Amino acid sequence: MSSAPTVQQTFIPLSVPEIRGNEWKYVKECLDTGWVSSVGAYVDRFEQDMARTVGSKYAVSVVNGTNALHIAMVVAGVKPGDEVVCSDITFIASANAIRYTGAIPTLIDCEPEYWQLDVHLLRKFLTEECERTNGVLTNRNTGRRVAAIMPVHILGHSVDLDPVLELANEFGLPVIEDAAEGLGTRYKGRRVGSSDSFAACISFNGNKILTTGGGGALVTNNQDVAARAKYLTTQAKCDPIEYIHDEVGYNYRMPNLLAAMGCAQLEQLDDYLAIKKKIASKYHESLGDVPGITVMPHAQWCDPSYWLYTVLVDESTYGEDCRSLMRRLGGQNIQSRPLWEPMHMSKVHGDGYYYGGTVSERLYKTALSIPCSVGLTVEDQARVIKAIRRD
Ligand SMILES: *Cc1c(COP(=O)(O)O)cnc(C)c1O
Repeated sequence: MSSAPTVQQTFIPLSVPEIRGNEWKYVKECLDTGWVSSVGAYVDRFEQDMARTVGSKYAVSVVNGTNALHIAMVVAGVKPGDEVVCSDITFIASANAIRYTGAIPTLIDCEPEYWQLDVHLLRKFLTEECERTNGVLTNRNTGRRVAAIMPVHILGHSVDLDPVLELANEFGLPVIEDAAEGLGTRYKGRRVGSSDSFAACISFNGNKILTTGGGGALVTNNQDVAARAKYLTTQAKCDPIEYIHDEVGYNYRMPNLLAAMGCAQLEQLDDYLAIKKKIASKYHESLGDVPGITVMPHAQWCDPSYWLYTVLVDESTYGEDCRSLMRRLGGQNIQSRPLWEPMHMSKVHGDGYYYGGTVSERLYKTALSIPCSVGLTVEDQARVIKAIRRD
């Protein structure tokens, strides 16, 4: 007895790198000349191109986005036993970076409309739960010093940043934006990373909108912050000839080889963003009327990059919950992924002070990111849409 052959449809990944520009050429040049390591012309060029692209005065390239966050906090003077206020919904790297300084994350819930840090809650936390004595802000509930605010721009949408910067100013706190997912996103017409926050940190991991294989950058308009970040990420070297170091530094430099790839990737950012936008508008148009599916929202002050296109699945209306939709898509060789576990529920960061309600938990239960690689074909997107529509 023979069974009908099963037609295995090609795999549609969630989000994979797109390499179709000068990557080969620039990387080959590094290999041909031997300039592969942590010094080289591409590192300088990548930093200049990055600053120009986001509209910041300075950029410091590093090995990954997590390191960029760590260094930003060290430069901001975050010390062991301090608290850093962070978005509850984020990839765990944000909270991990806080721990590297010895500080503890204080987690603020997100708002239900755009799924970003809830600025009203942040204000309430700072005004009602904290007190300031002799210029030091203390969380009354824990007795710990609040040292910085880390808003996280998630999924290619931005936090409502201006009120965060105003609050930070009022309370004397540095703002370190986790913009790992925010490259190319615009807030009130300006690119994320161009604000006058203390620093913004970008990631070039393989799943981000641009990749260097692995990499990151700290961008800032503050010359002192940039200079100190560069110094600390290059082993705090005071004298390059005598090898004199006056404090403990870090080896967080981005190698020239990766910067070469980054330069090539950056040249294509505008094209990628246009493609992402097209993919998003097709999803809006084709899934917007599906009962129980909420398509990705965007605030009127934000022009998102649509880094990871994400929908909400309401089980009672859609008839299937987020996880079972994920499994069903998986059965059709379509990759999808739920949102990260909220940090206050995490085994490693759940001991941080949590301020908020249940928005992040609800999003965790219902949000699903669906395929949106720059290289996603029209046919593949149609397959994803058909599967979700159950046509
Ligand atoms: C990817 C990511 C990071 C970490 O970046 P790496 O380059 O992977 O270290 C940090 N925060 C958020 C929100 C991210 O998505």
